[in-house]
Amino acid sequence: MSKQVKIGIDLGGTRIKIGLVDKKGKVFLRREVDTPSSSSRSVIIDTIVKNLEATIKDAGLKKKDVACIGIGVPGPVDSRRGIVHYFPNIKGWNNVPLKAILERRLRIRVSLDNDVNAMALAEYTFGAGKGARNLVCLTLGTGVGGGIIINGKVYRGSTMLAGEIGHIPLNEKGPRCNCRGIACLERYIGNRYILKRARKSFGRNITLESLSGLARKGNKRAEAIWLDVAKKLSVALTAVINLLNPDMIIIGGGVSKAGDLILRPLRKELKVRPMKGQALHVKIARAKLGGDAGIIGASLLA
Ligand SMILES: [Zn+2]
Repeated sequence: MSKQVKIGIDLGGTRIKIGLVDKKGKVFLRREVDTPSSSSRSVIIDTIVKNLEATIKDAGLKKKDVACIGIGVPGPVDSRRGIVHYFPNIKGWNNVPLKAILERRLRIRVSLDNDVNAMALAEYTFGAGKGARNLVCLTLGTGVGGGIIINGKVYRGSTMLAGEIGHIPLNEKGPRCNCRGIACLERYIGNRYILKRARKSFGRNITLESLSGLARKGNKRAEAIWLDVAKKLSVALTAVINLLNPDMIIIGGGVSKAGDLILRPLRKELKVRPMKGQALHVKIARAKLGGDAGIIGASLLA
């Protein structure tokens, strides 16, 4: 193997995943470690460097065999300059020139992007979005993230901050969001808000898995919560579909494990809410690449 090798790194709030990815988008060697918690950013950077070097060694390679490394990170970045603006769930990262830092330490070229953009690129190239030209990728989890592909390329916007579907407002008034917006989609269907609602409805703590389980057994209260999640999502996605006229919307992330409990009512709503031409064309699909999407997408940045 010569300068063909691409490495993708998926820096998450809880795990750091590193993988060697082949031309067909298969991860053929991987390493996964916990993201050091509540520590300084230099500890996280050290962890990335150490494990990356170990991965290269595991593969029987030398650094000079690696053409480029891509890294997807959980927050807004300036991908052109390789700067992390901040991470909503990891403290101490403000305007960090991560690309330059890693390149200096590793002496390998590094590309950097937001993790949802990386995932969108992966699904577009090897996953549910194969064959589409324009698509929108959505992750439902603690946050609600979005990535946009237009004509086969990630659409980043003027200051690299496009795609924030989670912060589309659903109403004129409503709860204040962390982003400073009012009544943002994420403020209703981010996982902690679903859990809060479930706790209120059932009078006890309940996990998303059991909420899904109950709904599948026909529990009316659980069904109502998932139906509401789908409806709220359909309102925001109607805006997205009318604005962008995409071929496809791909939905991933932890909350999307509820599967048809969300997708069935969502598809129904999205047949009738957007304008007819757009609604007839758009397909709603579940993400296909699962936990590997971040690594694969990051390798495609490389
Ligand atoms: Zn917001």
